[in-house]
Formats: sequence, C-alpha cells, structure tokens
Amino acid sequence: MSATLTPQIDRARSLTPLPLACASCGHGAGATPDAICSNCLGPLEPVYDAARRLPTREEIAARPRSLWRYREWLPFEGDPVHALDVGWTPLVEAPRLAARLGVARLWLKLDAHSFPSLSFKDRVVTTAINAAEAFGIDVIGCASTGNLANAVAAAAARAGKPAWIFVPEDLEIGKLVATTVFAPNLVRVRGNYDDVNRLCAQVADRFGWGIVNVNLRAYYGEGSKTMAFEIAEQLGWRLPTAVVTPMAGGSLVTKLRKGFTEARDAGLVARELPRQYGAQAEGCAPIVRLADRGDDVLIPEVPSTIARSLAIGNPADGLFASRILRHSGGAGQVVSDHELVAAIRLLAETTGIFAETAGGVTMAATLKLAEQGKLRADDEVVVCLTGHGLKTVEAVQDTILDAPIIAPKIREVAALVASHAA
Ligand SMILES: *Cc1c(COP(=O)(O)O)cnc(C)c1O
Ligand SMILES: [Zn+2]
Repeated sequence: MSATLTPQIDRARSLTPLPLACASCGHGAGATPDAICSNCLGPLEPVYDAARRLPTREEIAARPRSLWRYREWLPFEGDPVHALDVGWTPLVEAPRLAARLGVARLWLKLDAHSFPSLSFKDRVVTTAINAAEAFGIDVIGCASTGNLANAVAAAAARAGKPAWIFVPEDLEIGKLVATTVFAPNLVRVRGNYDDVNRLCAQVADRFGWGIVNVNLRAYYGEGSKTMAFEIAEQLGWRLPTAVVTPMAGGSLVTKLRKGFTEARDAGLVARELPRQYGAQAEGCAPIVRLADRGDDVLIPEVPSTIARSLAIGNPADGLFASRILRHSGGAGQVVSDHELVAAIRLLAETTGIFAETAGGVTMAATLKLAEQGKLRADDEVVVCLTGHGLKTVEAVQDTILDAPIIAPKIREVAALVASHAA
C-alpha cells in the first residue's frame, strides 16, 4: 500500500503591484517602478478596483496588529512577503497636555515607537520593499534626511537585500549610526537633501535600483495612509477633529487625508474629516509659506534648521499638502529652533515621551495653534510624533548639565537634597 503523498500546496497568492495612473491627467501607466507620468510629468498613483470587497470593522479587528490589517487599501494583489509586522503604533492620551492647551482631549500618535527603526518611515518602506520584490528588483535605496535611511537599511538587512543609501554628509550622528549599523552602502553627499534627491533620480535611471522615494514613490507613499486608519480604529472608529503633523516632502499630510477619506468612504467612520495642521521649522518652511500665501507656486528654500529630518527645501508633495491644509479648514504653522527644543522638553516633562526634533516642531506648532485660538475647547486633537528623540540627542544634550556629579557619600546626597528643599 503506497501512501498518498499530499504535495505541500503553497496557498500564498503571489504578490502583484496595482497599476498606476497619473493624478493630474489620468494617463494609465500600468504597474511600473516609475513615479512620474510620461505624458504630463504629474505624479502616478495606484488605481484600486472600486468594486473590490472591503472588510468590516469586525473583520479588521480580528486581523494581526500590523499595518497589513488595512491591506485592501494598500497597492497590491496577493500576499506581502516582507515586513509583515510593521505598524500599529501606540496612540496614547495626554490629559495634562490637553489641559495645558485648553482642548477637550488630546492623543499622541507614537510613530517614534515604530518597529523596527523608530520613525514613521517604517510604514512607507514596508510598501516600497514589497513593490521592489514584486517587480523583481533586488537592490533598494533612498535619498534621505535620516529616518528613511534608518528604515531602508533595517528593512534591507532583514530581507537580505543590498541597499544603497544617500544622505547629506552632515546629518546627526545618531541618524548616521542607526543606518551604518545595518551595513548598507551608505553614501554621504556634499550637499543638502535636494541635491541628494536629484542625484538619486539619476541613480534610479542609471542602475535600475528601487529607490523607494523616487521611482517606487507611488507604492511607497501609500504606506503612510495606514497611520490614518490606525488613528481612526484606535479611537474606536471615530475621527479626531484636528490633526497636527510635521511636514518634510509633504507626503504624510497628503496621505493622511487620503486615508481618512478612504476610511469614511468605506463606512468605517462617520464623522467629518479632521482639520489638518502642518508644522515646519522657520529655517525650512516652503509648504507653510505656500499655504499662507494661498497661491499655487511653491518657492524652494535653502534649509537652515536643526530639524534635519524635515529639511527639504523643494518638497515633492508641497503643493498638494498646502491645498489639504487650507481645504480641510486647517493651516500651516512655523516654529523657531528655540521653540522646538523647548517643546521637546515640555513634551518629555509632561508625558514621559522623548521625541526627535520633528516631534519638537510638531509639539511647538500645536502650542502656538492653541495660543492663536485655532484649537478650540471642544477639539479632539491628535498630534503625530514621527521620530524618536534618541536619534537627535544633540538638540537637548544641555539637559545633562543639570545633573550634579558627586562622590559616593551619603552626606553629599543629603547636601543636594537640602539645597533642593531650600
Ligand atoms: C520624513 C519625516 C516626516 C515627514 O515626511 P513627509 O516627507 O512630509 O511625508 C516627518 N517626520 C519625520 C520624523 C520624518 O522623518
Ligand atoms: Zn499625466
């Protein structure tokens, strides 16, 4: 009697990227590692089948706690193969901050605690690396202000893929080391982010690599939408009335809007979409200034701020982001480097959370919006903290100076305690 051998059936459906079409002229481009319309140079975006079956709240609730629980809104057919456990970061309520700001309730969306690289860039790298896989592209890379470098290096190491990562030469040491430890090919470029980004467009053409935020940008950006779905679900499928986000290239603000809109269109949330506020540092605020002017022409800037993760002088999605701020009933807000440092400390001292300079920008902007009366007493506010403070310790290293150094003698401790009581 011969045993019937049951072949191992691979039930995984192979991963296929969705086709792209131009957001400006509608030209269809098919599924392609290309982000720019050949017809009008507009941005390409994935096209979703409007008739696809969408999950209910209950079905989503039963899924694993990762950003893939919203897979129907991510740009693939079939099963993802990399970074299956990224996403689902904490949303924590901060009543002391709410009281200070004079708003009804306030939550912090903590992408500073994102797995694996402690910034929201893990979300976009997750969709991008799966797109690279589906296109059969082995080498991935990026142009980065720091956090994207960390996220690409970590994801590539885990997937066993080679990575080529390009950054401005003078980034914070924490950002550089949190990249080099993964042993990618890190290249420090003499120039600012905008120079690096231009170079990477040529690199993508020349070598055919998957530069996640250049030629894979259409797939990359969709990962950001999952932050909107998480906020809605973590609030019990409700939307806040106002959301404050940092802006670099302007993609996150834009994709949050798209995510909130899709969640509402799917019947997952009922309420009106939130007012969106976008924060930048005074030394690099082309999107805020565009939103303030209210016209349609972004004026590029040469960045000069310690908020390096936001220092993009010629932001790719700047125009779209500025429109969303205005049309949502929100606004842009600039803050000085001094204000952002004070806000990192205030946030730490009142919530126990250590955010990087971008978080300082966002927190400082939230304080200023409240002072100006733009946040109201009945507002339910979500503040997006997108990167961890240990990556930019320079900003607050002076706080060490407050710590005394003593001999290991109880009388020295007693003297300190007495001087504090005085
Ligand atoms: C990249 C980044 C952002 C903003 O990114 P967009 O380019 O505007 O999508 C915000 N915060 C941090 C910490 C970042 O690294
Ligand atoms: Zn076009």
